[in-house]
Amino acid sequence: MSKTVTVTGAAGAIGYALLFRIASGQLVGPDEKVRLRLLEIEPALKAAEGTAMELVDCAFPLLEAIDITADPNEAFDGANIAMLVGARPRTKGMERADLLEANGAIFQPQGKAINDHAADDIKVLVVGNPANTNALIAMNNAPDVPRERFTAMTRLDQNRAYGQLAAKLAIPLTDIEDLVIWGNHSPTMFPDLFNAKIKGPPSQKAVDAVDDMAWYENEYLPNVGKRGAAIIEARGASSAASAANAAIDHIHDWVLGADGLVSMAVPSGGQYGVPDGLVSSFPVRVSGGDYEIVEGLEVGEFAQSKIDITVNELKEEQAAVKSLGLI
Ligand code: NDP
Repeated sequence: MSKTVTVTGAAGAIGYALLFRIASGQLVGPDEKVRLRLLEIEPALKAAEGTAMELVDCAFPLLEAIDITADPNEAFDGANIAMLVGARPRTKGMERADLLEANGAIFQPQGKAINDHAADDIKVLVVGNPANTNALIAMNNAPDVPRERFTAMTRLDQNRAYGQLAAKLAIPLTDIEDLVIWGNHSPTMFPDLFNAKIKGPPSQKAVDAVDDMAWYENEYLPNVGKRGAAIIEARGASSAASAANAAIDHIHDWVLGADGLVSMAVPSGGQYGVPDGLVSSFPVRVSGGDYEIVEGLEVGEFAQSKIDITVNELKEEQAAVKSLGLI
């Protein structure tokens, strides 16, 4: 048995941090061989070939084959897992509509190619920004694929939220459970300390352990939300290894399952008042290769006001791509 994993934007910084981990067995486990399909735009094909040469030089026992192409139809042919990393970044002076249009030109054809060529069990993760809305575009252009197979990444936000909470409480990260992100992968996303728990005994709500709403609202939320910008400022380049790590976490858990709640941006079925079909981050449970949005969690007034902001942003992005004819 082997899995075909397609990675777009394979020659980019995240791709470079991602591919070696996939090939070493960290994505779908140490018993499964992988076939890699690298999709790149024409000017980046040579760089992708260089990365493929290094992959060969690692002599990974689980890596069965590497194909490189600029044609989405070839790239997604028989794909079991698609990790859509390549996207058009926002450049200086670019309006949001231009950004969405440029990404529509990438994610529309990729959605169609997935629809026409991917394996029946295809699972799609969108990493390239604006990730939720790029996933929405791909999903709406793949009518034959069950829509729940299209997801976007908020796992990096979740991992950042764990790191910063552990530092605040001076506890090991492993003492935190069920800390999830709601909404859009953007600075508006909402890390939920009301449903997160600190292991006991006695177990405690994270918000009670913190006991400082001013810190939660004025430091934690912006610091988690703007962590990407802080990394660019410190490193002189955007986060790549941590983004790749989160992409691995997302697919690994979706395929192999995990304990507790995790964050995935997935098409809403109307849960928690999020409009049906919007790709928004929710608390989910993963097992047996499927995920399920967890219902019935506490959403108080504070949390609801923050979720409304991030979901409204997604609604605006949805309206914009609709008016551009992308969905
Ligand atoms: P990266 O590999 O650093 O980033 C790729 C995408 O991931 C960007 O959209 C970036 O968004 C997004 N991203 C999501 N979360 C994060 C995060 N936490 N930190 C950083 N990035 C994040 O970009 P590169 O420019 O190095 O590489 C992109 C590659 O994609 C290029 O090789 C390009 O040729 C390729 N590409 C391929 C396409 C295709 O296959 N059809 C189409 C377009 C591009 P943000 O910009 O907001 O940081």
